[in-house]
Amino acid sequence: MSGIVSRRNLLKLGAGAVGTGVLTAGVGSQLISPPKAVAQNDISPDQALKQLLEGNKRFAERKRQNPHQSYTRIAEVAKGQKPFASILGCADSRVPAEIVFDQGFGDLFVCRVAGNVATPEEIGSLEFGSSILGAKVIMVLGHERCGAVTAAIKGGEVPGQIGSLVTAIQPSVEKSKNQPGDKLENACKANVMAQIENLKKSTVLAQLIKENKLKIVGGYYDLDTGKVTMVS
Ligand SMILES: [Zn+2]
Repeated sequence: MSGIVSRRNLLKLGAGAVGTGVLTAGVGSQLISPPKAVAQNDISPDQALKQLLEGNKRFAERKRQNPHQSYTRIAEVAKGQKPFASILGCADSRVPAEIVFDQGFGDLFVCRVAGNVATPEEIGSLEFGSSILGAKVIMVLGHERCGAVTAAIKGGEVPGQIGSLVTAIQPSVEKSKNQPGDKLENACKANVMAQIENLKKSTVLAQLIKENKLKIVGGYYDLDTGKVTMVS
């Protein structure tokens, strides 16, 4: 599939999925919500990242505002969505994106899969999230004591399709095995970086980065404190 055809298909999908509500939803939320709580995505990638990290700061400091969780907000975003950030996070039940970043309906475009691996389906979803919906930052979010990374470190036989996750994470285990410090934490962070590299191979995402419409960053969630630190 050529880049042009692929983009056209995405656009077609976008028209059907979000329709004409994209513009009106923005106007409505400005009228109803205080400015700082409006998660419009006509902002820069740096501003989007700042907004994301500020949300996590509120969460970790136990100052959650639970923005955009009202029934009014549900009605607003029913007309269309303009998420400001995308998350490629782990399926782990202890890392729910909207809660740990203190966001609500319509704010985050979230893809979750064990080990936060960038499979073709995840990449396609994130391409949609940024090229059609306009998310300005993608954060690959790994976390402390990740079960999928633990399985990749252990190796050996695993049942069913779990092996596909292990295979995707193993190169990061290999790459980080001689680093000083905690082996599991190092592998989790190496996996975040490896998945960022996988995402950057997408021509759709690479083009958006080139146009300064997107930034892809890595984060690591601490299960004990609730804090997200940047991985680079
Ligand atoms: Zn995990």
